[in-house]
Amino acid sequence: MNTFVQIVVNVPAVSGIFDYAVPESLAGQIGIGHLVVVPFGNKTVQGVVIRFVDQPSVQNVKEITELVDPLPVLTQPQIALAESMAESTLSSLASIVGLFLPVGISQEADVHYQLLIPDYQDKTSPVATRLINLLKERGALRGRQIDSHFRKVEWRNSMSALVRKGIVSAKSVLPPPRVRSKYVRVALLAVPPQEAEAEMPNLGTRQTLARRQAALRFLIQQPEPVNVSWVYAESGSNLADLQELEERGLIRLFESEIFRDPLERAGKHSPADWYPTKQELDLTPEQSSALQEIVHAISSPDQSHSYLLQGVTGSGKTEIYLRAAEEVIKRGRQAIILVPEIALTPQTVRRFLSRFPGQVGIVHSKLSEGERYDTWRRARTGALKVIIGARSALFSPLPNIGLIVADECHDSSYYQADPPFYHAVIAARMYARFTGAVCVLGSATPTVVQRYQAETQQMQHLQLPRRITGSDLPFVQIIDMRDELKAGQRGIFSRLLFRELEATLTRGEQAILFLNRRGTATYIFCRDCGYVLRCPNCNTPLTLHIDENERLLCHQCGYQRQKPKECPSCKSKQIREYGLGSERVEAEVNGLFPNTRTLRWDWETTRKKDAHEMILTHFANHQADVLIGTQMLAKGLDLPLVTLVGIVLADVGLYLPDPFAGERIFQVLTQVAGRAGRSERGGKVILQTFDPASQVIQSTARHDVNGFYETELEQRRRLGYPPFSRLVRLEYRHRDPLSAEKEAHRVAAKLREYLTTPQWKLVTMIGPVPSFFAKIGGFYRWQIVLRGPDPVPLLRERLVENWLKDWRVEVDPISLL
Ligand code: ADP
Ligand code: ZN
Ligand code: ZN
Repeated sequence: MNTFVQIVVNVPAVSGIFDYAVPESLAGQIGIGHLVVVPFGNKTVQGVVIRFVDQPSVQNVKEITELVDPLPVLTQPQIALAESMAESTLSSLASIVGLFLPVGISQEADVHYQLLIPDYQDKTSPVATRLINLLKERGALRGRQIDSHFRKVEWRNSMSALVRKGIVSAKSVLPPPRVRSKYVRVALLAVPPQEAEAEMPNLGTRQTLARRQAALRFLIQQPEPVNVSWVYAESGSNLADLQELEERGLIRLFESEIFRDPLERAGKHSPADWYPTKQELDLTPEQSSALQEIVHAISSPDQSHSYLLQGVTGSGKTEIYLRAAEEVIKRGRQAIILVPEIALTPQTVRRFLSRFPGQVGIVHSKLSEGERYDTWRRARTGALKVIIGARSALFSPLPNIGLIVADECHDSSYYQADPPFYHAVIAARMYARFTGAVCVLGSATPTVVQRYQAETQQMQHLQLPRRITGSDLPFVQIIDMRDELKAGQRGIFSRLLFRELEATLTRGEQAILFLNRRGTATYIFCRDCGYVLRCPNCNTPLTLHIDENERLLCHQCGYQRQKPKECPSCKSKQIREYGLGSERVEAEVNGLFPNTRTLRWDWETTRKKDAHEMILTHFANHQADVLIGTQMLAKGLDLPLVTLVGIVLADVGLYLPDPFAGERIFQVLTQVAGRAGRSERGGKVILQTFDPASQVIQSTARHDVNGFYETELEQRRRLGYPPFSRLVRLEYRHRDPLSAEKEAHRVAAKLREYLTTPQWKLVTMIGPVPSFFAKIGGFYRWQIVLRGPDPVPLLRERLVENWLKDWRVEVDPISLL
């Protein structure tokens, strides 16, 4: 009696679920979630067993060749999650399963082959003969070693035949975990101090000499390896300098196994940097009642519960995550803590590390494959009790999950914006259902959809309305930039921001200047009256097309016009596109305040490894006075010396043709405003805008999260956007603009046929239109948006027909740009 299984096969070209038979040699060893090797066409590929079946759906069912790992690589709840995610995001199951498997598994797991009959003479096939001879000659070998002898020759089928005949034994092997994860790069003096001193004069040219000397001098004083970020901060040096010192044999650079916080040294300035143990804290009444709810749910694991924990930064949310994690660990279960980005949330990570020493695994994008694989395996055995990391940490194979937290759950980094598209917060809630875990979403500014779900009982709403310290949120002063222009102030800074900046610097304090970079220089407005050029059909702001000359376009309906020479409203000639980069702001600060040390923190300056740490350390150590940056400033750290936050341009992006633009800007402005005045020094926020009456600006200035939610929700209701409808965004990309346009119209015509049928009459189509970012990486983008109570089933049917091949299909997208 044969056993049959369904296997999801993952090779880029073919992706699907196929039936296989379990051979006798593997009987009893194959179970659900196992990673196996199977023949596929004339190839051999890896796949994961997802279920047993009574009857194969094809006649000539092939057999599994090998078992890669004696333990399952996916748990049952993980398979359930993968299937649900595939179903709800319209992705292939294989592509979703790929999210769960660390690359290391296919690379590090291997099979060990040994010849059992030493004098066996093979006559069956040339490949089999070669294999036997190889094993005779070299002794037992691993699959990858055999690969190197059989370049381009498929040998695994012949080998399995030998295994079946009992001539060769096959045993899965996995190298032992390396146990501790490397994390930070450190530097250590490599020579006696006198020797280093002697080299001081010869370390470089005029430009580099001082930096390298400072770095070396600092390292001479350090008895132990030091995080390179400290060296940078202390000396103004960079990696190249340290590498040069290493070249000369003066220092050693290596990866250290300890997780160190960039602010450890700055801690002496910052009371917030000392983390009390649990016993030292009495929860506030609000914290207690929130925790009580959560713990109650934790102790009834037969049901799953989701919570939205809403509270401003500093209201004590993290303390609740810590205690909830402790409760599930006490019950023999594990916790997953999702954060938007590890590099930007070192304080949260460190609090978990210090509360649960030796039990926390960190998952982040800078891990090597081997490190990732090790963490994955330690999670699988349950050796790790807490996994903390960005969205992919959700897929850690913990055996018995009791808690899933998504901190800053509104953050767009939870959405994977490349195929397979998925939202980790939505996936987290699904996963909690499959595991019976408690799901806690935390944020000061949850999305409208998340908040709506909390109010309509799909999640429970817990609130922490006050900061623990009782300190007030900073005062936000709105500056109407049109008045500045009228007063002849045409620079980047208003008169007030200039004065405040000057005063802050004179007091020896620090300032942050924030730029909202999204949608830079794309829409057109009048600098005198604030008039924004809009589409006569849809009222969507028109955007300047970068490829064409001065053409303005509506991305909803395709309406076009020339860019006008003067404002249609006030006839002013000051009609401009809107946008500004952080480099320009930095230049301006340097021009106005020549002795000020500026630091830029944007995507450009953070491409290098450890760059976030480096910049933060510099700034936290007061090695710079003004930090200029984009979205990243919204997250991260307490910086007690920061007493001024200047929002240089609040309204960039406010008029983007995207129903989610307003909420995104509100979130980021609110978070940035919260950067000021964390300490007793107090602080203020200056918000520069051309549209002071806008709801987003007004709500931000009043820290009015609830008011913003009410208005925004009302607007979504009126316009029929989520949560009052569901969207699916279809995008097509092509190098040739005409081909892109043609394909978009072809698919739109097909869709239109269906939309006229009674079954789909509630679904409407927006487009086809060029996407807002009409060209990315040499590809022209066109899009179609379907909107309705639930347009997904329509596409599920249609996808089967394959006429959306090569389209990117996003269910519940977080942006329509
Ligand atoms: P959030 O996660 O909402 O930003 P935290 O949990 O980080 O808030 O709390 C902010 C600060 O207050 C932290 O330094 C934390 O250690 C401290 N804290 C939290 N809860 C209490 C409490 N009940 N009593 C005293 N301090 C607390
Ligand atoms: Zn229009
Ligand atoms: Zn005007």
